[in-house]
Amino acid sequence: MDLRSGYPLWLVTSGLPYTYPKLERNLKKDVVILGGGISGALTAHYLTKSGFDCTIVDARTIGLGSTCASTALLQYQIDTTLTELTEMIGIENATRAFERSANAVDELEILAKEIGYSGYARKKTLFYASSIAHGKKLEREYKLHKKAGFSVQFWDQTLIKDRFGFSAPAALFSDHSAQCDSYTLTHALLQFNVLKGLTVFDRTSVTKIEHTAKGVKLTTEGGVIIQAKKLIYATGYESVNYIDEKIVDLHSTYAIAGEQMNEGRFWYADALIWETKNPYLYMRSTSDNRVVVGGRDEPFYNPAKRDALLGKKSRQLTKDLGKVFPQLEFNVEFSWTGTFASTKDGLPYIGQYPKLPNSLFALGFGGNGITFSVIAAQMITDLLLGKKNRDLNLYSFGR
Ligand SMILES: Cc1cc2nc3c(=O)[nH]c(=O)nc-3n(C[C@H](O)[C@H](O)[C@H](O)COP(=O)(O)OP(=O)(O)OC[C@H]3O[C@@H](n4cnc5c(N)ncnc54)[C@H](O)[C@@H]3O)c2cc1C
Repeated sequence: MDLRSGYPLWLVTSGLPYTYPKLERNLKKDVVILGGGISGALTAHYLTKSGFDCTIVDARTIGLGSTCASTALLQYQIDTTLTELTEMIGIENATRAFERSANAVDELEILAKEIGYSGYARKKTLFYASSIAHGKKLEREYKLHKKAGFSVQFWDQTLIKDRFGFSAPAALFSDHSAQCDSYTLTHALLQFNVLKGLTVFDRTSVTKIEHTAKGVKLTTEGGVIIQAKKLIYATGYESVNYIDEKIVDLHSTYAIAGEQMNEGRFWYADALIWETKNPYLYMRSTSDNRVVVGGRDEPFYNPAKRDALLGKKSRQLTKDLGKVFPQLEFNVEFSWTGTFASTKDGLPYIGQYPKLPNSLFALGFGGNGITFSVIAAQMITDLLLGKKNRDLNLYSFGR
């Protein structure tokens, strides 16, 4: 699958910070993790910490799947509002799903400290109404967030204008967010765990997977065999190749990063910003004083068509930013596009797919793929440790 193209900011600025070997000899492990993006790296971290002998195998160079394209906003709010999710799965489950995401934002902070990763930064989020009708909906959304105990404020037009300088009918201003760079975080996680025994192989494509009663047998393109008791599919959007039912819609999305600017601060609190309409516009700043803008999604998976639109989308995103913050002197330096997947309820798929014994899936689909990958890594570790996890049903394939 063609996952992305263009020049993702963090791939350009970090290049290849570390390299990993190809797998050239047969291996036997407790756990093999297929995919060395952020989902595989997080899962490897939790499993290695719990004493599992793990290996990661990736067909690409590490991080060059969707991970390097991510704009890496980390939020407890997901693409489905709490109001919508409550209608779908009930208030208790919906609140629990939001709590798990909030916990994942906290967990990433702890983890960043643990591995000595400096690219994680706590942020606030402005979620603004794109229309008057959406403003009314945000009032209900606000009540649900408050009831669930999240630290959130309801802002009216005057307050938004006063703080951010642009007009929107209403907004939620919340506390529980952060930002990072998932590409360098992936490398940092792998480097930390390689010292603890994790083995990582890239440029090693697995072309055949056999699930047996005792474990799994993977065969690479080069004929090398990996045997393991358990297989974790951290295969990102390419996981659709392994699941014989439709669980996601694939889309194309776009992002741009501006040149470095002198300002220390671009807007109020340099908060993460997004809006209620779908597809939504979103913005963040970076530690090297850039503004990143994303959105303008298209509802198709067609790499040629997606890539042909990159120039146009880049101009549109620049204009979109200019409407919100006309005072910013923004010049696009990098633009990129990628595939992403959305699910029926905005939640990821985690756990066992019954037709594939001795394997578990870590599929952080949606705009919150990274926090979902944290949840997947935690749950998979619990499952392999034989611990019960009360939230499995929220993310299961059969839900
Ligand atoms: C433009 C863009 C912006 C985004 N913004 C955000 C955001 O702000 N916040 C957020 O949380 N998420 C965001 N996401 C989503 C997030 O980037 C993804 O959820 C995340 O990167 C997925 O990571 P992954 O490790 O699951 O997949 P990937 O990074 O794609 O890794 C999967 C790996 O599996 C490997 N693989 C697959 N099949 C095989 C095989 N047979 N053999 C060997 N290897 C195999 C692939 O080579 C690949 O490297 C964004 C995505 C895009 C595209």
